Amino acid sequence: MTDAHPAIRLRGLTKEFGQVTAVDHVDLEIGAGEFFSMLGPSGSGKTTVLRLIAGFEQPTSGSIELFGQDVSKKAPFDRDVNTVFQDYALFPHMSVLDNVAYGLRVRGVGKKQRNERAMKALASVRLEQMAGRKPSQLSGGQRQRVALARATVVEPKALLLDEPLGALDLKLREQMQVELKQIQRDLGITFIFVTHDQEEALTLSDRIAVFNAGRIEQLGTPAELYERPVSRFVADFVGTSNLFDAELSAAVLGRDGHHSIRPEKMTVGTEPQLGPGARNAAGTVVEAIYLGSGVRIVVDLDAGPRVSVLEQNVRGRVHDDAHGDRVVVSWHDDDVVAVDGAAILPQNATPTAAVSAAMPGISG
Ligand code: ADP
Ligand code: MG
Repeated sequence: MTDAHPAIRLRGLTKEFGQVTAVDHVDLEIGAGEFFSMLGPSGSGKTTVLRLIAGFEQPTSGSIELFGQDVSKKAPFDRDVNTVFQDYALFPHMSVLDNVAYGLRVRGVGKKQRNERAMKALASVRLEQMAGRKPSQLSGGQRQRVALARATVVEPKALLLDEPLGALDLKLREQMQVELKQIQRDLGITFIFVTHDQEEALTLSDRIAVFNAGRIEQLGTPAELYERPVSRFVADFVGTSNLFDAELSAAVLGRDGHHSIRPEKMTVGTEPQLGPGARNAAGTVVEAIYLGSGVRIVVDLDAGPRVSVLEQNVRGRVHDDAHGDRVVVSWHDDDVVAVDGAAILPQNATPTAAVSAAMPGISG
């Protein structure tokens, strides 16, 4: 293994099931030691990509390289990867220790050595104390950690994880997210993590591929995807967005094409914001929803669209906006993101008639 090769390289990877193209010409390189996520709605092809990498499915066309070696024709056990499934697939009749040592046993590792290595793997997920228990005597989160130890004990170069936290409740899920990240950092191996949960992907990943209908719609760091979504699909799937089609972009933003503004980039007040780049639009409050950590205020702008504004629950901010209140929604022009390749009007383009009309005397 050299640094010159990515951990995984997919070239033109395609998988058809009869009429269904589950994976459609995917090109992708994943670096050694990367925490990489494949994010997308149900049916977008994530699991199929994972199964192709693992060797459980044969590609219709295209190739798969692991650390520079073409493994497209190799059997699953000849590939230096291991998989953690959502349902853990632990053996109920075996102790935790024997479950973890299983992969070593089938590889012919002697008892003493395999128990030592299994204990070490259990220590990496902080479960040494549970070695003698049966899976049924563990909590969901502990079972998940056993599955992780069992997959890492054979020291694969890459670990494939298919929605591994899907069966856990929210609190445990958030706890396990932190642990997964720590385990990955400690082991230093490549993680390829499949999820349909955008928050989970943003929290964990070095980079994320957003899948849509068997294709990668956008590839980038969490911040790149969130701050600069390239399409309406990504803007809407990763976080929530206020989307403006061409007509509304022209009317409200003074721009050509489709655009997105994140709810937390907007504020609601009684006075327009001034200064360079400040933009304002008048509207009427439809609903103010108390969220604990913040307030979501839904406003119908006079210029047409309904926008959602997310405000932090900070000291001094009185959230008493109510249905029917007249307000000004403000944002900064830099927080407007062009999606689907929409062109941005030149700097000196005339500001929007609608917003000027709504806010007479106000300009950027
Ligand atoms: P995801 O994991 O993103 O939910 P999948 O990779 O499981 O998506 O599925 C992608 C598409 O391929 C879906 O339309 C699914 O119905 C189809 N598909 C997956 N596996 C099979 C199979 N073994 N036979 C037929 N169709 C399949
Ligand atoms: Mg799946």
